[in-house]
Amino acid sequence: MEVRVRFAPSPTGYLHVGGARTAIFNWLFAKKNKGKFLLRIEDTDIQRSREEMTEEILESLLWLGINWDEEIVYQSDNLEEYRKLTYRLLEEKKAYRCFCSPEELNIRKNRAKKLKIPYKYDRTCLKLSDQEKENLISSGKPFAIRFLVPEGKTVFEDLVYGKIEFNNSEIEDFILLRSDGTPTYQLAVVNDDNRMGITHIIRGDDHLSNTPKQILLYNAIGIEPPLFAHLPLILGVDKKRLSKRQGAVSVMEFKKKGYLPEAVFNFLTLLGWSPGNDREILSRDEIIKSFSLEGISKKCAVFDEVKLDWMNGCYINKTELERLYELCLEFNYDYFSRIDKSYMLNVLELVKPRIKRLDQIINDMGYFFSEPQEYNNVSLKKYWKKDTKKYIEIVTEKLSGLEIFEVDQIEKTIRDTAEKLGISAAKLIHPVRICLTGTHISPGLFELISVLGKETVIERLKNAVDKINTSQ
Ligand code: GLU
Repeated sequence: MEVRVRFAPSPTGYLHVGGARTAIFNWLFAKKNKGKFLLRIEDTDIQRSREEMTEEILESLLWLGINWDEEIVYQSDNLEEYRKLTYRLLEEKKAYRCFCSPEELNIRKNRAKKLKIPYKYDRTCLKLSDQEKENLISSGKPFAIRFLVPEGKTVFEDLVYGKIEFNNSEIEDFILLRSDGTPTYQLAVVNDDNRMGITHIIRGDDHLSNTPKQILLYNAIGIEPPLFAHLPLILGVDKKRLSKRQGAVSVMEFKKKGYLPEAVFNFLTLLGWSPGNDREILSRDEIIKSFSLEGISKKCAVFDEVKLDWMNGCYINKTELERLYELCLEFNYDYFSRIDKSYMLNVLELVKPRIKRLDQIINDMGYFFSEPQEYNNVSLKKYWKKDTKKYIEIVTEKLSGLEIFEVDQIEKTIRDTAEKLGISAAKLIHPVRICLTGTHISPGLFELISVLGKETVIERLKNAVDKINTSQ
């Protein structure tokens, strides 16, 4: 039997960490089993569904490298099918019309709340006589159609949590078709999962309470339900619900923050799944190979942004320069496209072991692309002494005399100059760095000088000496 799984987002919001993880696990399961990964847009909530959200969800999936098989299914195309199925259940007396208005239901709900008893629809309309029903229908009173939950128990074997049992008496007669003719999630999901031939439903455990309802529907329709696997909740490091700060942001936000799709993909796979050893940096192929539902934990997963940063840094460091350059363009085209490509490749080679996110190249290392406008006071206090100006002028002279402007020659020139002056090399290195970058923190100075190039270095040293001394 071919494995067929699906990801079924509602386009009422962005694709967040939880949804992305669900999509990835489904995709991995399909890949591992040489099956199909399908996409279904659950857009029956016309009020809240937005086309831009669908676009954004698709863009996010593609950014993560998740592609889907077969055509995308839009639930809004199937409205007639949902209606037909509901009326079939109605005819078979597995469903019934409910004429209770939202106001009446609210009164009952509030009453239950006051009495502190759990609310469940009280089957008022199931008790109506045929005549009463006829009268209400012909009077034009709007009605919804409810599923008649049978007595007994609903038991299923969850592929993550094991055996799960629900007493049907705890499940209310849920609505299948609303009075405006739109289907509810429960009905649409069962209809479509069946029609699409879905074999495994892998989704967040916030859907656990929907599963018995859906199994009851499968039974009523007379079809074998698919298998279910519910994924553990994702929490923040404080073990509370994910907050915006802790990663409850859209997947596209990760792109905007300078994360690599490969890193985010790898990171998300480890939210609730483990390959069974301590390895964390795994290629897509390795993940596919070792992925299994047995490897999914029952325990809540923790979204740790510090770990994501670390992992992203590892990915940046191991990414080839050409690809990293492409990623920079993808990250901020306006900024990086104005920079000469071969210069950019040199910059990337130097910075890639030291950055965790691409935005750091712009935010912390702007000196690669423009002269510092100011010089950090703390740095100056620490390293700019009485004789520094003189030393810088000497080293500028020496550097401008260099024929071959490469790391070894640059290092030798600076060290020799220090020796001749009878001072430690540090007394030159730190101030030179301040002149070139505005601070005393940067990648290795000799490499930095070689990347910036002779002309820029000489100009910056001269300008800095003027500016620093006049502002001292
Ligand atoms: N549209 C539902 C959601 O976004 C899908 C639930 C399911 O996978 O059955 O949560």
